[in-house]
Amino acid sequence: MRGVFMELCFAAEKTLGRLAKWLRILGFDTLYEPDLAAGYFSGLEPNRTLLTRRAPFHLGRIDTPHVVIRADHYWDQLVEVVQAAGITAESIRPFSRCIRCNSAIMPSGKADLQGKVPDYVWETHDVFRICRGCQRIYWSGSHVERSMEKIRSLFCI
Ligand SMILES: [Zn+2]
Repeated sequence: MRGVFMELCFAAEKTLGRLAKWLRILGFDTLYEPDLAAGYFSGLEPNRTLLTRRAPFHLGRIDTPHVVIRADHYWDQLVEVVQAAGITAESIRPFSRCIRCNSAIMPSGKADLQGKVPDYVWETHDVFRICRGCQRIYWSGSHVERSMEKIRSLFCI
């Protein structure tokens, strides 16, 4: 268990892409670099918890905090991380982080986005957010509802 939940951040190996995406959906800073060779990261800060399919000793990182992922299905993998890292419902910030680039996403004025999202989306939504990194635009839709249902089931809330 960790005391400072908001400092919890991860680095996921390239075989754990869906797990990395879901950790970002929950709001956790998750390094994921599928273009690099397995087990390698461009900058692995010592406070990042490495998510790996095997113990990271082969990388010479015996002191690296890590969780060895045993499950094959991404949802079971997420359960493993939640349990191992002591993640609780209070420590998550769903939909606060870009699933594509891991940057924080921030509220955006609707007027600024006309022409940047499909017309029907602009006409039927009032709340938009934009990624500070890659400029991807987010809005609530059925996929968000479905994700929230899964998150609620994960934490029994
Ligand atoms: Zn982004």
